[in-house]
Amino acid sequence: MTTLADTRPLDHLADFPAIPDGWRYLDSAATAQKPRAVIDAIARGYGETYATVHRGVYQRSAEMTVAFEAARQRIARFIGAGDPQEIVFTRGATESINLVAHSWGNTHLKAGDRVLLSMLEHHSNIVPWQLLRDRTGIEIDVAPLTEDGKIDLDAVAAMLTPAHKLVALAHVSNVLGSVLDAKRAAELAHGVGAKLLLDGCQAVPRIPVNVAEIGADFYAFSGHKLYGPTGIGVLWARPEILESMPPWHGGGAMIDKVTFAKTTYAPPPARFEAGTPHVVGVIGLHAAIDYVDAIGLNAIHAHETALVKAAREALSAINSVRLFGPDDSAGIVSFGIEGVHPHDIGTILDESHVAIRAGHHCAQPLMAHLGVDATARASFGVYSSEVDVEALAKGIQRVTRIFG
Ligand code: PMP
Repeated sequence: MTTLADTRPLDHLADFPAIPDGWRYLDSAATAQKPRAVIDAIARGYGETYATVHRGVYQRSAEMTVAFEAARQRIARFIGAGDPQEIVFTRGATESINLVAHSWGNTHLKAGDRVLLSMLEHHSNIVPWQLLRDRTGIEIDVAPLTEDGKIDLDAVAAMLTPAHKLVALAHVSNVLGSVLDAKRAAELAHGVGAKLLLDGCQAVPRIPVNVAEIGADFYAFSGHKLYGPTGIGVLWARPEILESMPPWHGGGAMIDKVTFAKTTYAPPPARFEAGTPHVVGVIGLHAAIDYVDAIGLNAIHAHETALVKAAREALSAINSVRLFGPDDSAGIVSFGIEGVHPHDIGTILDESHVAIRAGHHCAQPLMAHLGVDATARASFGVYSSEVDVEALAKGIQRVTRIFG
């Protein structure tokens, strides 16, 4: 049996004021709890330094603009982007992917072009492409999974053709925790002249990400899964791609000059940031990245991998538990119990103050592939420990007793 003594366990629970004593929060894949550093940064942003950005001629607004753009710089460094101007602020990964599908998709794809997705994608990396299909007549292909629930890149290699213009894949699955070999995915996509978009929602809080090393073309993620605020997300894209993309939303801040006869647009990223931005969300995301980086993604990954291993071992020892996904999944364990609906598992665990997620996880095609309506999912963060795993295993034993 693997114990956490095998790795250096992280002990950051005390940084998270919204996790009371004895509450086992195992739903970080849905949204991560916030460390005090992020809460304080948000409180300072509204309570001490607040003003809008990019417009004010007064000192306070100029200072807020500096802080806002410093966050863009910090985020660029965090994901290995070459230039802060490659970072576009959005409301979250969902909006980032929709932005690409609208702006890049509408102008660069036409009827007969193909987009390749995988069977494990989140709805936010499926539906925007279906909407694009409705608008343009593109075709969508779906890559299968390996037996243990990873995107089958050998199959991807066999499926790709010169008609493929985009490969759009989850870097880490939000259901199975499976980690994509992103570098190989980039090579395969580029081999047929396609671009690679990675949905990095579950990757950025769990594994080191460097978009340049990967060779990706687009990278999307949400702040709230990275210990930051809700309502703020990021789209990174190669600068020449952003340059080639027309505006998506029109309004203030994204223009160069407006007349009723003709409007010209600002260069990226402003071109894609119409309206007053989520100023304090950006400040909070900066604080979250500082927090995560101080711990280190390698340490976080090792910690979560050990917890996943311990959880999988503990759960597989319980008769009637079915585990999904690979053994080396990153921070996420999906499972089911024969004859028990995952919602009942979640409700009974909640009675012991263990909070898991139960449902389709916005991945209905994957559920159909697994032959279930829903799974129970436990997911870890920097505040998780072996105590959580023990509470989960104990809770699941109780469920099996209740259901006989
Ligand atoms: N992709 C993945 C893999 C996710 O886990 C999620 C959130 N569950 C999303 C996309 C969408 O993120 P958001 O709802 O923050 O836009």
